[in-house]
Amino acid sequence: MEGMPVDLACTRCPLSKGRTQVVAGEGPSPCRLVIVGEAPGEREDLEGRPFVGRAGAILDVALKAGGVSRREALITNVVKCRPPGNRRPTREEIEACRPFLEWEVARAGAPVVVALGSTAAKAVLGRSVKVSEVKAAAGRAEIGGAPREVFVTLHPASSRFRKGAREQIAGVLQAAASRAGLLRPKGPAQARL
Ligand code: URA
Repeated sequence: MEGMPVDLACTRCPLSKGRTQVVAGEGPSPCRLVIVGEAPGEREDLEGRPFVGRAGAILDVALKAGGVSRREALITNVVKCRPPGNRRPTREEIEACRPFLEWEVARAGAPVVVALGSTAAKAVLGRSVKVSEVKAAAGRAEIGGAPREVFVTLHPASSRFRKGAREQIAGVLQAAASRAGLLRPKGPAQARL
């Protein structure tokens, strides 16, 4: 299989020095949908689970509004260790962690990947995109040894500062889930935020 299993004792990059624990992806494998964030925050670092802090609460609301159950998706991050002070991970850190992301996506075998925020979008697509402007699928990318359809949207943490962000995230999650064949027919995401 592409990549390598997440190493809970990893020392491939300097983030290992400041972390409490490695935060691997969480969710079913195989599955139809993988959601990729940037990096664990404080709460995630303490609990060892992705998206359980403030950004996670926003993601949960957006998932619900988009008609997606958290249990249906594999939720992970570009890097598995918390960067000091929640700074963005560097290119080197992202590269060092890449085999773990590749392995998670390969094992999930999901046809659809959603990248949350510009760091995840760049890591998944291999190019910079303006996440606030992409409304539909951003394209296809080879990840985990196969081409996947990639959707990108804002990072839930940024939605605190941006009007309409939660609706946008929910709408993209809904579109991605629909593409992945997960959705039961429902009304517009905005109505339930
Ligand atoms: N932000 C992320 O990108 N991932 C998490 O797991 C938590 C916050």
